Amino acid sequence: MTTFSDLKLDPKVLKAIAEAGYETPTPIQAQAIPEALTGRDVLGIAQTGTGKTASFTLPLITRLSRGRARARMPRSLVLAPTRELAAQVAENFDVYAKHTKLTKALLIGGVSFAEQDKLIDRGVDVLIATPGRLLDHFERGKLLLTGVEVMVVDEADRMLDMGFIPDIEKIFQLTPFTRQTLFFSATMAPEIERITNMFLSNPARVEVARQATTAETIEQQLIELTPTRRDRAFSEKRAMLRSLIAMEGDACTNAIIFCNRKIDVDVVAKSLKKHGFDASPIHGDLDQSVRTRTLEGFRDGSVRLLVASDVAARGLDIPAVSHVFNFDVPSHSEDYVHRIGRTGRAGRKGKAFTISTPSDDKYLAAIEHLLQKTLPRGTAPEGFAEAAAEASARPDRAGRGDRKRGDRAERGGRRREKPVDKQTDQAAEAMTETDVAVIDAPVEPPAPQREERRDERRDDKRGRGRRERGGRDDQPVVGMGDHVPDFLMREFRAKAS
Ligand code: AMP
Repeated sequence: MTTFSDLKLDPKVLKAIAEAGYETPTPIQAQAIPEALTGRDVLGIAQTGTGKTASFTLPLITRLSRGRARARMPRSLVLAPTRELAAQVAENFDVYAKHTKLTKALLIGGVSFAEQDKLIDRGVDVLIATPGRLLDHFERGKLLLTGVEVMVVDEADRMLDMGFIPDIEKIFQLTPFTRQTLFFSATMAPEIERITNMFLSNPARVEVARQATTAETIEQQLIELTPTRRDRAFSEKRAMLRSLIAMEGDACTNAIIFCNRKIDVDVVAKSLKKHGFDASPIHGDLDQSVRTRTLEGFRDGSVRLLVASDVAARGLDIPAVSHVFNFDVPSHSEDYVHRIGRTGRAGRKGKAFTISTPSDDKYLAAIEHLLQKTLPRGTAPEGFAEAAAEASARPDRAGRGDRKRGDRAERGGRRREKPVDKQTDQAAEAMTETDVAVIDAPVEPPAPQREERRDERRDDKRGRGRRERGGRDDQPVVGMGDHVPDFLMREFRAKAS
């Protein structure tokens, strides 16, 4: 078996990894590190959790330990698709390079340009960045990429999903032809293949087995839900989620709840909070400081439930969780494997619940096909009927959102989050706020009574307004839409001739 000392890494790196407690290299490290140390390009096909960050960071540090950085000319570049992943690489770098004098800068959105400029001006050995932010700096004329000796592209398939490939191509073209390229992707989609053929030179291809199976230690359950009405699907799913969490009780020490869309991440987190659960959202539109705080809270146990989108959660190095809840069936079957792989780690037991509705049948079939097995069907917890009735008793203005949601899904195709650095979905977020405020308002009397009381209040206000303006209560009234228009309730008065 290969040991780290067989790998010809810098002794300072070996010391740091021994202190980090690593005993033996993971398969991707054992294969990629020797190739990278010869200066050859590497094409690594591996997922997060396989130790791939160290497989490029350790040879990078070893190579850069000789030589010095010049102002505004970083010696190496590591590109990651999201801020969190870039920050994670930076953290890893700090651990592995702690006995060296190498410097780094992290260029991600949500941090002021001025601070980042200062670091670049001083000269950095390793520049870790998201593609959008890197190009922003470049276009401001603050950065020269002609000194880049090594370029790393991490999670290329995510870059593809997020629409970053044109940015990556541009960045490749800004770096010297003689650079070494270390390129990592979990899958080799045709577009990824094209990029590697174009920008990698005779790469060593290293691959670790693709994870298409789920660990034996994860107990999986599919909870099928047939909404009472189509426009109630979203609220009834939330009721189902609450009753599943309640059913698991203390056994659910911490959990990640996955939604397919970031707008739903917000609604679900706020709804859980309103019902007294300790939940926080994480998605690309949140401020960097909020995301960092949320993750820290989840890591240290002060946040119990993390509601996340795939993109935000992808690659995050979060300690094992007791439960995973798929609020939505993922539309990409591999995401199912990634999601539930967050639990049941290192031989520990974990549970994964997936809530599905009849409209998910197609995605469910794809997941079962990938896993080569049928997901065990579970039954709705006892508390669900009550929780659903309570949800139905509320005016579900989200119903409108549900219909839009359904229509969009039907019009369809793949829906992906936009690049984190470029996301703007403010209108959608505004809708979220309103929806949650209405959907999760405290339970009031059954719908008919409440409607009546609301109409009463409305009439009351109108009457008062008219009186205050010196108008007459018996003026002709024009009704526009809402339930029973006022004018239908008025008596007709004969016009004085
Ligand atoms: P990654 O796939 O790079 O996100 O790494 C996943 C986790 O494995 C991180 O927490 C690393 O610190 C850890 N790790 C990486 N390499 C090793 C190793 N050789 N031995 C033990 N843990 C490792």
